[in-house]
Amino acid sequence: MAELSPMMQQYLEIKKQHKDEILFYRIGDFYEMFFDDALTASKELDLTLTGKQCGMEERAPMCGVPFHSYEGYVARLIAKGYKVAICEQVEDPAKAKGLVKRDIIRVVTPGTVIESSMLQDDRNNYIASIFLKGKKAGLCFADVSTGTAHITELNADKIAPAVITELCRYHPSEVLMNPGLLDCREVTAYIKKNMTCSVELIEEERYAPGLVAASLENQFGRDWAQTTGIAADGLVRFAMAALLEYLHDTQIKGVERLKTVITYNKAQFMRLSPVTRANLELTETLRGREKRGTLLWVLDKTSTSMGKRMLRSWIEQPLISSALINHRLNAVESLVKQTMARGDLTEELGYIADMERLMTRTVYGSATPKEIYTLAQTCDRLPGLRRQAEACGCPELAELAVQIDPLEDIKARIYAAVDPEAPSTLKDGGVIAKGYHAEVDELRSIRDNTKGVLAQLEARLRQETGIPKLKIGYNHVFGYFIEVSNSYKSMVPETYIRKQTLTSGERYITQELKELESKILGAHERLITLEHRLFSELLESISAQLDRIQRTANAVAQLDVLTALAQVAAENNYCRPIVDDSDELTITEGRHPVVEQMLKGSLFVPNDTTLNCGADRCLIITGPNMAGKSTYMRQNALIALMAQIGSFVPASSCHVGVVDAIFTRIGASDDLSAGQSTFMVEMTEVAEILKNATAKSLVVLDEIGRGTSTFDGMSIARAVVEHIADPAKGLGCKTLFATHYHELTELEGGVDGVKNYNIAVKKRGEDITFLRRIVRGPADDSYGIEVAKLAGLPGSVTRRAHEVLRALEATAPKNKVEQMDFDALQEYNSPAVPSEMMDKLEALDVETLTPIEALNFLYELKKTL
Ligand code: ADP
Repeated sequence: MAELSPMMQQYLEIKKQHKDEILFYRIGDFYEMFFDDALTASKELDLTLTGKQCGMEERAPMCGVPFHSYEGYVARLIAKGYKVAICEQVEDPAKAKGLVKRDIIRVVTPGTVIESSMLQDDRNNYIASIFLKGKKAGLCFADVSTGTAHITELNADKIAPAVITELCRYHPSEVLMNPGLLDCREVTAYIKKNMTCSVELIEEERYAPGLVAASLENQFGRDWAQTTGIAADGLVRFAMAALLEYLHDTQIKGVERLKTVITYNKAQFMRLSPVTRANLELTETLRGREKRGTLLWVLDKTSTSMGKRMLRSWIEQPLISSALINHRLNAVESLVKQTMARGDLTEELGYIADMERLMTRTVYGSATPKEIYTLAQTCDRLPGLRRQAEACGCPELAELAVQIDPLEDIKARIYAAVDPEAPSTLKDGGVIAKGYHAEVDELRSIRDNTKGVLAQLEARLRQETGIPKLKIGYNHVFGYFIEVSNSYKSMVPETYIRKQTLTSGERYITQELKELESKILGAHERLITLEHRLFSELLESISAQLDRIQRTANAVAQLDVLTALAQVAAENNYCRPIVDDSDELTITEGRHPVVEQMLKGSLFVPNDTTLNCGADRCLIITGPNMAGKSTYMRQNALIALMAQIGSFVPASSCHVGVVDAIFTRIGASDDLSAGQSTFMVEMTEVAEILKNATAKSLVVLDEIGRGTSTFDGMSIARAVVEHIADPAKGLGCKTLFATHYHELTELEGGVDGVKNYNIAVKKRGEDITFLRRIVRGPADDSYGIEVAKLAGLPGSVTRRAHEVLRALEATAPKNKVEQMDFDALQEYNSPAVPSEMMDKLEALDVETLTPIEALNFLYELKKTL
């Protein structure tokens, strides 16, 4: 250490405290990285690796980024899972004696990012904190960029899936966990495999009750339990305290201001397992994980970033209270009917900035002057927005309008204080408006007059020296200078002191110039410092209004989402669903919201659905591959889900009795990469459904029982249908069941509530046409070979397949096999009834039987088959 240069010693001292982070070490206009950090960063950011003399024989590997554009580089490192510690010069280098003091001002981690350049506008960025103990867990999901935290307590026999479900609801980019969670391998393995987030293990000591209480009290005051809803004896307090401490460690100033804690209970929302979210392609597609092709893509006609984030969270958390759903639907209906009002609202919303995140950056003190000016411009729009919402004559919208505070006082303060041309950084001044502060105006006049003074001086010196092109200039290194080109060098007076030689000329200073400089620079420096102070005071005074601004932002976001839903409904010809607490799912002319958009030119064929917990509980859907079974089933699930977020639905009429959960088992999610066979994955998913569904759930099963022998598969499929459909045996919930086992269609009439449907196809010769229509009754054939032909299998192969099929059918008549199989199953179901033949068999005395009698008996027995 002793051999190292003083700067390197300082560097290593700071680095010791931040081993896990890449250290951005400020030197002049650059953030430099050294040693391993430099090797990593140069590779990840494509930076040139250089070296710096550090006192040792070998130079220290080094790379750097300009300080004014560091955010982009930090963003790229964060996206790759690194954390970055920002080390600043904390004293003025010009005034420092010896080495400039430096300190870490901030640690940027994926979950604590607040810079807009590092965040995606259309989604929240959550940091999760989990505290798990036995079968209970306290969970906290905070979005530091909007200043909101969602908390919940879980208590479940199987705690791991419960935690995973919540993680999938919020998609955190960073997770803090207590050591107790390490015992729950299922959760840690899930995070590692399925989530792109960084994980931070918090030490056990940090959960000491004394520390936890102190931390909560610091943030929320003595009566934190009342004000926040955090249970005084729950586990959330540990999760929340760990999160607060972590935020303090990462040195986000202003965290203490953020007090919005929303307690949620998972029972408020429709249950959607991670698999179902993925299968229904709510916010990202199964393949490619894109937004295009998802429900979010269809519904996202929002105008603001706040609305975009809110719409996403509505889709991720459909409601189950019919009252709340109808509340939203009333507002959407009013906006659907009022085309003009909707257009006006949409236009007005287009001017609204991301107040939510802007406000948080104001609280953290990192909002730029330009951003603050935008806040005022947004405030300009609020009264209009409020008026328009009120004018719709809809009580639900009027309720929202009331929550939009016009924020006149804040707007007036900003307009008075901030220059309309304010730059996006503070460092060069020009932030404070003219006339706001007398001293600012005075210092500016000195600065501006000096321009004239310098011009005068320049003219005078030109005259004195006779050098026509003598110029006065300025640079950061040695301030003001006189520049003379080479051809006039000889005319420069003795009193000029040479400072720098250029290829084209020389630069000098004089006593007089230096004196003028200190006057000018003094004013400039005082001006910058004063502008800084005034701007910070402005941020402070806006921050004090956090509550009002957050409430307004929330109301604006809701208005945006409701307007967007109305716009989508109007454009796509959706209808308002009747939503109540019945058991109905009745849809007339329903369409798949996404496939319908994708098909564009060609028309989507609408289909009806009748599902309920009575006579139409379980629809067995047959039909060839590609007929549209999967589309039909998903469309019904999506329509129920859309209704429950408060959206209109793609149908001509629709009645949705609220469902508490949607479960799906659809082939495409098979996770073969995890080393599980298709069959295992399928059975695990089915097991989860059977365990978790209730009579109020909607279950969608696509081809259960593949991947094993036909009889095994069919038997499992049948047992599952019976369990789900029959309330006496199991659930009795609404179920859509697509299958290739035509044998299952025989359950209609046998099992209560089972109804057969098929997707019609038209056959002409060896060709088939898909009609896309769902009709009552079982499919008459599976048309596998015809579909294979459509897919392009060579004619010779399909012809041969037909031959083989005919041969098979001749040796094992299809219907016979089915009959036998199902009779056997019926026997199994009702073993108590012995047949007439069985009675005779039992009565038979084999000892006294003559050969002819035995033969006759066998003959009779065979006849019954
Ligand atoms: P299956 O599950 O029976 O194999 P899919 O549901 O995957 O069939 O449907 C196959 C294709 O048919 C879909 O990609 C879609 O483009 C089209 N399709 C399905 N249903 C309809 C419909 N009702 N109207 C128009 N096209 C449809």
